[in-house]
Amino acid sequence: MSNTFINMQICNPNLCEGCLPRNIPANFNVADTGICGKCGELNEVWDLDLLDLYRSKGLSDDEIWKNYPRLRLSVNNVLSIQMVKQLFEKRL
Ligand SMILES: [Zn+2]
Repeated sequence: MSNTFINMQICNPNLCEGCLPRNIPANFNVADTGICGKCGELNEVWDLDLLDLYRSKGLSDDEIWKNYPRLRLSVNNVLSIQMVKQLFEKRL
């Protein structure tokens, strides 16, 4: 098990609809199935920092949904921000 994986388990960035800050709209296009880092439930969750990174690159929600992983920590994936940045370098 890599250090990244362990860190991600400790700092799970995912938030479910009930745990999202009130000023953040729940946009299900950019949610994916994962464990909420706050309440621990398996649900549709958002990784807000990852979405901010995508938006900072000028991607629309539709482009994110079609082309990019929506969570760093999903049921199938563990990605670091560095890995996502490498993904961009390959595609852009
Ligand atoms: Zn939650």
